Amino acid sequence: MMISLIDLYQKYRECSGVSTDTRKIGSDSMFFALKGPNFNANAFAQQALEKGARYAVVDDPAVVTDERFLLVEDGLKALQDLANFHRKQFNIPFVGLTGSNGKTTTKELINSVLATKYNTYCTVGNLNNHIGVPLTVLAIDDSVEIAIIEMGANKQGDIKELVEICEPTHGFITNIGKAHLEGFGGVEGVAKGKGELFDWLAQNHQTVFINVASVPTYEMAQQRQGFNEIITYTTDTNRRFPTVVTMQEEIPLVTFTEREGGYFESHLTGAYNFQNIAAAIRIGEYFGIDTKTACQAAADYVPNNNRSQFVEKGTNMVLMDAYNANPSSMSAAIKNFNNLKAEKKMVILGDMFELGDEAEAEHKALGTLLAECNFDNILLVGSLMENAVNQLPMMKVLYFPDKFGLHTWLKDYPQTNTHVLVKGSRGMGLESVLQFL
Ligand code: ATP
Ligand code: MG
Repeated sequence: MMISLIDLYQKYRECSGVSTDTRKIGSDSMFFALKGPNFNANAFAQQALEKGARYAVVDDPAVVTDERFLLVEDGLKALQDLANFHRKQFNIPFVGLTGSNGKTTTKELINSVLATKYNTYCTVGNLNNHIGVPLTVLAIDDSVEIAIIEMGANKQGDIKELVEICEPTHGFITNIGKAHLEGFGGVEGVAKGKGELFDWLAQNHQTVFINVASVPTYEMAQQRQGFNEIITYTTDTNRRFPTVVTMQEEIPLVTFTEREGGYFESHLTGAYNFQNIAAAIRIGEYFGIDTKTACQAAADYVPNNNRSQFVEKGTNMVLMDAYNANPSSMSAAIKNFNNLKAEKKMVILGDMFELGDEAEAEHKALGTLLAECNFDNILLVGSLMENAVNQLPMMKVLYFPDKFGLHTWLKDYPQTNTHVLVKGSRGMGLESVLQFL
């Protein structure tokens, strides 16, 4: 017999939490047997119970042997429905974030700011998909005063599915850029897909935060009616805004000043991170945190996972941005690095994935951008990067079909007193170059 959602929720309340991975079973947890392209976790349900799970939610009647197995129609759907049922138990702000770039960074900045006054819970790491969002929601307990949920998407409909699970009361789109173009069908498609967050917030009379200096998201908000409130701010430094960005010349960390004159130095590199910081400050102010405290909390945030991290290696200064790359974040990082004043500058760039038909053109465009920049050395790695090489003068560029050649070159030609930008798609794993710098 299939278990009803209400009964499932009651059982969940007896548990310590939920798990989907038999390698990480919490004792007394509720195990969800999910299916992937290459596995069917129904086969591991028994093992999950042996490892300490209290219940195993399965969708294959054949594996059910006792009352600890809870049979549902579809394991993933059950997880999502349970998360939404749990969500409905809370009358607290749920801040939902999506966008092409900067979601995790902005989520963590918002969390740092809001945590100065509230007990917050935010997405752990990058758990932002159809499984991660339910797991995030299910981790929220009565002590939480504000939840901050990161939502990622590869295609149309993904955000709609996620907002229906977490029902945000407040929303923010970091930006609309060239990311996951393959699944979305171009930038227009990205705007439509990310716009599903605004659709939901407008239909449910909720609140959005808008950077009016970001034309696409500003227009997207104007196109929709029904928001409870539209909270605006701007990163355009010519207009009135409490903070103003300045980039220090040699140490490429974002620094900013506050209207009252406070000066803050963040741990983030890349001018584009100012947008992320500004959003976190504005959202903090909206929730009643004074500007100075919000600025300080944003400045104190230390990034992790090779996201815009600044690493000193011997006499070299490395801007480690190897966490991921797409045309928008790549060009933002390159332009930013080009503006930096340094004695000697080198870029190590790897392929950008998931671009579908646009891959060749986007790598060519990257080559054109690099040709306009002033770098002493340009090291390109990966098969797609061959498209960029052809746009560049021979003298400047070194091309490596794979990382092995790149590593060898770096070993043979040790760099000193150099500022180095490292960026590429996650699959390129370019953080490996650090050991040779
Ligand atoms: P994912 O899709 O993997 O969840 P994300 O949207 O969460 O990515 P982050 O992990 O915060 O993004 O940042 C990834 C990279 O995106 C950074 O290292 C940086 O290069 C770039 N980035 C961050 N913020 C911005 C921004 N506001 N504009 C453009 N690029 C950005
Ligand atoms: Mg992320």
